Amino acid sequence: MGNGAKAAHKREKAGAKVAGKGESSQLKSNAAAQTIQCETCKATFQGTSKQPQLQLHVDSKHSKSDFKTCFPKFVAA
Ligand SMILES: [Zn+2]
Repeated sequence: MGNGAKAAHKREKAGAKVAGKGESSQLKSNAAAQTIQCETCKATFQGTSKQPQLQLHVDSKHSKSDFKTCFPKFVAA
């Protein structure tokens, strides 16, 4: 009996620590603000950027390269 109460108390303490740090909420906002990065020059773009904007970058900066080389992870919405 005594042991169970002790464990519950311990868990409660650990949970409070995480909440106080606000780590989980920060992770969430980081995912929302995820950036798109050009694999060729490492330039970053807002995660909300559309393919034409990125294509513009490829055309102006890497005219000898192509979209898939610069943004292999980009998935058109
Ligand atoms: Zn680039």
